[in-house]
Amino acid sequence: MISNTLLIKILNNIAITIKENKEYLTHLDSVIGDSDHGFNMNKGFNEVRQKLEPLQNKDCGTILKNVAMTLISKVGGASGPLYGTAFLKASVVIKDKYEISEKDSIKMFDESIKGIISRGKAKQGDKTMLDALIPAYQIYKDSINKGNSIEIAISQAQKAAYEGVEYTKTIKATKGRASYLGDRSIGHQDPGATSSYLILKSISDTLN
Ligand code: ADP
Ligand code: MG
Ligand code: MG
Repeated sequence: MISNTLLIKILNNIAITIKENKEYLTHLDSVIGDSDHGFNMNKGFNEVRQKLEPLQNKDCGTILKNVAMTLISKVGGASGPLYGTAFLKASVVIKDKYEISEKDSIKMFDESIKGIISRGKAKQGDKTMLDALIPAYQIYKDSINKGNSIEIAISQAQKAAYEGVEYTKTIKATKGRASYLGDRSIGHQDPGATSSYLILKSISDTLN
């Protein structure tokens, strides 16, 4: 179970993690993109962080909906609308709820990914955030369905996301700006897959 109070703590820690990795994400994007992924993500999550205080006693759905709207409106680039859609889809699952159950969390993760896919039309293997998120989701769902806690499942999921990030080094980008490089994108790690891993790692670190 994740309470609304714990959800706020998780979001605050995600914002801190993104801030700490701003230069790193921008560096990754400088190699295969336009050098703004760290800036974009930090701008969005810094804004999210400033809006958390008045949301403290709200239900989990309202909290995540606000996060989604902030990311969609404040983050330029492909990643803002994509992450915003992910949070928006997750928020619908827990509408009016003050606690997130294990079962809710699977549905939230699933809906987030479906939202990213419907918005960005990418698939696994296109060298995007999906290459971290999809394997992480599969491990997460299996782990919860085996009876594990959210804490254990998210810890396994972030490791799967890390492996997904490593996998992006071996493939050619076929979606987003990096696809302009064609074969020259091979050998380089995807910035969005990396920020997805960092978000999952931050959730795991907060819970464990
Ligand atoms: P931009 O490319 O517009 O500058 P960012 O640099 O903030 O935006 O984000 C780039 C990241 O967005 C990529 O590394 C990739 O993971 C992700 N991305 C780009 N296009 C898509 C898409 N269609 N579907 C999923 N993720 C995508
Ligand atoms: Mg960019
Ligand atoms: Mg850009």
